[in-house]
Amino acid sequence: MIDFAGLKQQHEAISEEIEQAISRVLKSGWFILGEEIDCFENEFSDYIGTKYSIGVNSGSDALLLVLKALQIGQGDEVITVSHTFISSVDSIIRNGAKPVFIDIEPDTFCIDTTKIEQKITKRTKAILPVHIYGQPVNMDSVMEIAKKNNIYVIEDACQAHGAKFCGKRVGSIGDIGCFSFYPAKNLGAYGDGGMVTTNNPELAQKIQMLRNYGQPKKYEHNFVGVNSRLDEIQAACLRVKLKYLDKWNQNRRDIASLYNKFFKDIPIITPSEMKFAEHVYHLYVIRSGQRDSLQKKLSEKKIHTQIHYPIPVHKQKAYQELGLDAALPVTEQICKEILSLPMHPFLKEEDIHTIVEAIESSL
Ligand SMILES: *Cc1c(COP(=O)(O)O)cnc(C)c1O
Repeated sequence: MIDFAGLKQQHEAISEEIEQAISRVLKSGWFILGEEIDCFENEFSDYIGTKYSIGVNSGSDALLLVLKALQIGQGDEVITVSHTFISSVDSIIRNGAKPVFIDIEPDTFCIDTTKIEQKITKRTKAILPVHIYGQPVNMDSVMEIAKKNNIYVIEDACQAHGAKFCGKRVGSIGDIGCFSFYPAKNLGAYGDGGMVTTNNPELAQKIQMLRNYGQPKKYEHNFVGVNSRLDEIQAACLRVKLKYLDKWNQNRRDIASLYNKFFKDIPIITPSEMKFAEHVYHLYVIRSGQRDSLQKKLSEKKIHTQIHYPIPVHKQKAYQELGLDAALPVTEQICKEILSLPMHPFLKEEDIHTIVEAIESSL
């Protein structure tokens, strides 16, 4: 049995520190918006390279609250991709705005920045690029287009903690960044969690209030907010894991290199890396014309794989009445070919050999 995300091995490696961190919170008697979240927000800001970080309940809430804070709603358009997890797009729709889909590049799986400008209208308020699988989007192009058209850039960095574009961490390049701490992410909590990052003090303050019932101070409510806070126990655990993130990301990169090397003469398409970007391989995604039979054969050999994602967002049932259908040939083609192989910092070289051999014999 080869596990997909290795969360048990991860916990084994740091269990003592985690138990100490949890115990510290339990003994403190303080569980929401205390010292742990203050420290973690500061540590995360230092790591990502922004002035502010604001902890929230999930990556989905991070995106939702960011669009709310930017007052993006009815009548507005946001440019994004259909090849992503549903939340990138849900955040737009739930705020009453319209997602405008751009196709992706077949090699990076990220937004094709050469196709953005033709979709910009008077209603366009923001571009929401997704650093999918841990692969940084070409942010130079995105920022240039945003600047020229005076629109916001909201980075969906939920799969790319620590990834760099031209030396800068993703989540620090656009106006605002959104992260998820879903357990299997590169930096994962022991439950749900998320973070917003920005250099803009007004935006930071607005998100701080939005996550806490719209309160500037207790029992004063300036606008309609929500209850979406990263709690003290999760913050304490994430502080432990943040210290290991660079090492774990390096392990992921080393594993990706091994996969690439072993797949050299096998007829599948391996992930590519952009010259100026540092991919953090949240997922290692190959392409094959025989994806479905390959996945089945691997499963018979007890190798756990997944598909991220089998149905593009614009084809989801939930959105069929919204009239969002678009011509996205690359998005629609690759979702039939992609397969995510086991990828986590504790995967062993012998496991990689087993996986590669299993694939070779299944083709
Ligand atoms: C995981 C993820 C989200 C949502 O994060 P949750 O914490 O699960 O709500 C949003 N966007 C992308 C690209 C993700 O991978």
